[in-house]
Amino acid sequence: MSEGIQQSITVIKGVGKETAENLNTLGIETIEDLLFTFPARHEDVRLKDLAETPHNEKVTVEARVESEPTVFYTGRKNRLQVQILAGRYLVKAVFFNQAYLKNKLHVGDIVTITGKWDKGRQSISATKIDFGPKTEQLDFEPVYALRGKVTKKRFATFIQTALETYKDEIVDSLPNTLREKYRLLPIVDALYAVHFPTSAAHAMQARRRFAYEELLHFQLRMQALRQLRLEQEAGTAIAYDLAKVKAFIASLPYELTNAQKRVVNEIFRDIKSMRRMNRLLQGDVGSGKTVVAALALYAAVTAGYQGALMAPTEILAEQHGASLAEWLAPFGVRLALLSGSTKTKARREILAHLASGDIDIIIGTHALIQPDVQFTNLGLVITDEQHRFGVAQRRVLRDKGENPDVLFMTATPIPRTLAITAFGEMDVSSIDEMPAGRKVIETHWLRPEQLPSIFERLERELQAGRQAYAICPLIEESDKLDVQNAVELYEQLTTVYDGKFTVGLMHGRLHADDKERVMRDFSEGRIHVLVSTTVVEVGVNVPNATFMMITDAERFGLAQLHQLRGRVGRGEHQSYCVLLADPKTDEGKERMTAMTETNNGFVLAEKDLELRGPGDFFGRKQSGLPEFKMADLIQDYRILDVARQDAVALLHEPNFWHDPMYEGLQHMLKTSGVADGERFD
Ligand code: ADP
Ligand code: MG
Repeated sequence: MSEGIQQSITVIKGVGKETAENLNTLGIETIEDLLFTFPARHEDVRLKDLAETPHNEKVTVEARVESEPTVFYTGRKNRLQVQILAGRYLVKAVFFNQAYLKNKLHVGDIVTITGKWDKGRQSISATKIDFGPKTEQLDFEPVYALRGKVTKKRFATFIQTALETYKDEIVDSLPNTLREKYRLLPIVDALYAVHFPTSAAHAMQARRRFAYEELLHFQLRMQALRQLRLEQEAGTAIAYDLAKVKAFIASLPYELTNAQKRVVNEIFRDIKSMRRMNRLLQGDVGSGKTVVAALALYAAVTAGYQGALMAPTEILAEQHGASLAEWLAPFGVRLALLSGSTKTKARREILAHLASGDIDIIIGTHALIQPDVQFTNLGLVITDEQHRFGVAQRRVLRDKGENPDVLFMTATPIPRTLAITAFGEMDVSSIDEMPAGRKVIETHWLRPEQLPSIFERLERELQAGRQAYAICPLIEESDKLDVQNAVELYEQLTTVYDGKFTVGLMHGRLHADDKERVMRDFSEGRIHVLVSTTVVEVGVNVPNATFMMITDAERFGLAQLHQLRGRVGRGEHQSYCVLLADPKTDEGKERMTAMTETNNGFVLAEKDLELRGPGDFFGRKQSGLPEFKMADLIQDYRILDVARQDAVALLHEPNFWHDPMYEGLQHMLKTSGVADGERFD
């Protein structure tokens, strides 16, 4: 026997079997479901003066009928037209397919009409008519996403009845303390305000309360799960040798930035502790993540553990391998590189040394997750550009050790909002500062026809001894076309710079050996302009390259454009990025403009999120983002942040699980599978 608002809607007066079935199709089974079915929006039905109503705006007027209605028929459709006097304005009201109104409207009648105002035609295209003066008490009418047979009016009556009858049985999940802190409406008031608002501000107050409540619930679940993970999942306590780590830092040719120091501290605190690290390191392209990874790996080695660094492409793995070898080999660290193109014999040796503990750090591609890759004691796993690997792949590598600490690195900064939602169970470290002396990459957006003018500008760079990238987009439907574009641009540039500069071509269809050769020729300066598809996107480091042009730039998302741009601006010289684009949509134009306005990946990420919405940001399917009724991750990110802090503080209260003040929250957590020290799912 359920009671209170858990009872079936059939107990509400007026809800019969058929109505109940209708409501069921909307997902409404209980009184609680009914009360918490929020309107999609509120419509302003205040009476308005037509003189102040903009064209095409919705308007409600009280008016006097001034003419007999006329009906025009076209085929099976009809249109009824009548003169009305609304305030001082004599205008037309037009009704579609409501010829029956003809006998109901008489000169002198007072009516209330809602519809769209056509200023040019001086007519209202009516969607609603009430006979008599405005009776509706509400100025802001809730609009529910109703389907089927239940009318708006009846639906509102059910809610009203339910509220009157059961208002004393509704538990407010928000404790007084929090409600007072943010001046949020108590639950019953909020329900009245959302269903029967007296003003826009009143409806807004309800929205604010429910948005906060939803986000608090969400954060509590996340934080409670996180606490459980920390308590239950023992990790590896890496007792690193601080003196050795400091010696390594001292050997670097530069000082770490403050942001690097901060994230190193965060990471080191994690790896030293018994709990398993599960941390995301995000930092813009060029912010210096590699050296942070090297520090963490070296720390693990000084404690007698092995470390692994996995990168999404061979080129990137090789670059990491080269950097790490340069830094760490002088300290006696034994490193090896393993990729798909490692020869069989070399591979066999590496695997043997890895299994016997004669290799300290292995750097590689997917090749690292093969079953025959075995470690003696893997203590730390780092994945670069984590979004390029599936969850399963990342887990395979992790499972090659006994609860090794895990660090993910990404140069695609995740908007703050999403970092704390999508990765609520992960700790996040951000390198939000560039090494000193970096020059801002000057970015321009030009029209495709301006391509020839770019050749001149580019030539000046080349004459000064610099190098350049020319990027053609990846056309998903056809990588043939993709290659063809690159080939055409390559031929064009070869003709333009004939005899003066060397142009190279790089695309996904080249043989691994050829790719390797082209890349090497470019990084060693034998190729001056590298025409490429997006294969150069990740990680490539050629500090002498100062010019980047991207054709058909409108085809790229902001994150990818920013990634590509990050290939230049890596050395001491001023760098440039030219976007050739002819975007057809406003969104596309905004993307191009955003690129020219900022070099900050975090800012662009927020912009990307705003332009595309959170689902698209991760790809809708695996977004893993929760759905909210009222809260909006973009609009309400401040509330989300506050809710997160409140959730952490609540869970730290010693009496949280027992204080009756938190009854609603305890109940919410228990029904979603989390309870004091236990996890049910
Ligand atoms: P990313 O974060 O994109 O992986 P990298 O680790 O490749 O960036 O670093 C980019 C460049 O900046 C490298 O040449 C690196 O040696 C250099 N670098 C890293 N940290 C600093 C620093 N604190 N000061 C100066 N240069 C740095
Ligand atoms: Mg990197």
